[in-house]
Amino acid sequence: MSYDENPTPATGPRRSRRGLLAVAALAPTTLAGWLAWQVMGSPGESRPSKESTPATAGKPGDTTPQAPPSASPSLVPPTASPAFSKGPSGPLAGKVVVIDPGHNPGNFRHSRDINKLVDIGTNRKECDTTGTSTNAGYTEAEFTLDVSHRLRTLLEKQGARVEFTHDNDRPFGPCIDERARFGNEAEADAVISVHGDGSAEGNRGFHVILPALVKSGAADTSKIVGPSRDLGERIVGKFVRATGSAPSNYVGGGTGLDVRKDLGGLNLSDVPKVFIECGNMRDPKDAALLTSPGWRQKAAQGMADGISSYLEG
Ligand code: ZN
Repeated sequence: MSYDENPTPATGPRRSRRGLLAVAALAPTTLAGWLAWQVMGSPGESRPSKESTPATAGKPGDTTPQAPPSASPSLVPPTASPAFSKGPSGPLAGKVVVIDPGHNPGNFRHSRDINKLVDIGTNRKECDTTGTSTNAGYTEAEFTLDVSHRLRTLLEKQGARVEFTHDNDRPFGPCIDERARFGNEAEADAVISVHGDGSAEGNRGFHVILPALVKSGAADTSKIVGPSRDLGERIVGKFVRATGSAPSNYVGGGTGLDVRKDLGGLNLSDVPKVFIECGNMRDPKDAALLTSPGWRQKAAQGMADGISSYLEG
């Protein structure tokens, strides 16, 4: 397969490191302001000497840190200064990524709630489902949260603003229509819904699900079909590279891509969005990968690389 032939250059640990250096260069100034604020605002509080070093450097013996000229209203913490309010730097600065961890560990206890039907444009469908699990009982909902956390860390390192549709902080759901709305309201540049599949033993590998062209009721995917395919294709290529896993042998004819019009989370999205089924939780060989934290980190890396590649163009 030609997955490694994706012409997009690899995204950058190097670039994000450069971003960190830029932040480090700002540190002495902002630390000085912070220290002045700390000293004036809470005189009795001792601070770690490592943090106070930059502010007092060059003034040995002077126990009163000098605030920089601009810090005269030094009761204002420097987190409100322009240097901080600009937010993180990095190649994805200014980009918003919504991560949708598939299902919810609490769904098992709320079958009536998650079975309620919601409108997905084309038809009505269950609010949410419990998801699958490995034969040993590792649930898809646990898996999706773990991978989503890893993915968030990687994207934030590159400067992206990352939001979750849920973080195991609610009893069940959200419903699939709410999950879609979440990305729309965040005006996300990219949304990924993370899943593990539940198919027959012997069915192996991952696939990315793209929105079909749907125009019905509240669903209109005409604007997102193209960009979502671009996003999905990049994720497939990077996922292969990061995990060494082959695309699905049971969906997508070896492309790692599937197109569906029955998923409310895609039908109702106004912003580029894909689902990823990271593997088949019911296959023992795939399950061995999905239950390995090391593999999950690689999976998250593959997704992060694909998303970065898409966002950087
Ligand atoms: Zn799922």
